[in-house]
Amino acid sequence: MARFDLVGIGMTSQRTRNRLVERLREKGVTDEDVLAAVARVPRHIFIDEALAHRAYEDTALPIGHGQTISQPFIVALMTQTLLTECRGRVLEVGTGSGYQTAILAHLGESVQKIFTIERLSHLIDRARERLGAMGCRNVRYRHGDGYQGWPEEGPFDGIVVTAAPPTVPEALLSQLAPGGRLVVPVGGDEVQELKVYDRVDDAIEVRTVDHVRFVPLLKGIR
Ligand code: SAH
Repeated sequence: MARFDLVGIGMTSQRTRNRLVERLREKGVTDEDVLAAVARVPRHIFIDEALAHRAYEDTALPIGHGQTISQPFIVALMTQTLLTECRGRVLEVGTGSGYQTAILAHLGESVQKIFTIERLSHLIDRARERLGAMGCRNVRYRHGDGYQGWPEEGPFDGIVVTAAPPTVPEALLSQLAPGGRLVVPVGGDEVQELKVYDRVDDAIEVRTVDHVRFVPLLKGIR
């Protein structure tokens, strides 16, 4: 009986995940690797039980400590934007719940290894546990300040920042490999520009792809 119930829950969540994938397609997500990752990663395990029934709505949700798990559309958009250029080693700043990390870890050959940094020790510990339980072996975790990047492991082919600094952190630009791409929301508290920085030879090219709303990238760790 218990087993039957578990199978039932698994199928329900797969159906709701497939519906989420369809919504993301309607909103313009086209990368099949990203959509396949969204279909595979169970978002409800990254959210407190009290809110788990809303896991497959396309909205941001609170994860405690004033932080949020990003809206699936934004996770998909940022990942798709990153993948257009980057293959290989990816740095994520702002692990939070670990949902975006899990999406990156399910992109198959597109991404070889993920390095993720979070300033709140409680959140990085839980993300490590969840991703470990899911069997993600290609992720390294760091409790640290994302403004500094991860110089010992750089340069990176891709960097994605899931909290907003007021201006682009120089350390992150300097840790971009040739041909690498940084995707980062830049701006104040209310609304930010989602910016893409490409390292082309010795120059950096920048453009704005959208307007978004993220929690701020804060200084220092806790
Ligand atoms: N990608 C996450 C989004 C989490 S919200 C998810 O899908 O769940 C942004 C996260 O950035 C928060 O957990 C916050 O604590 C973290 N953060 C803020 N400033 C930071 C900094 N300087 N270095 C590392 N992480 C930071």
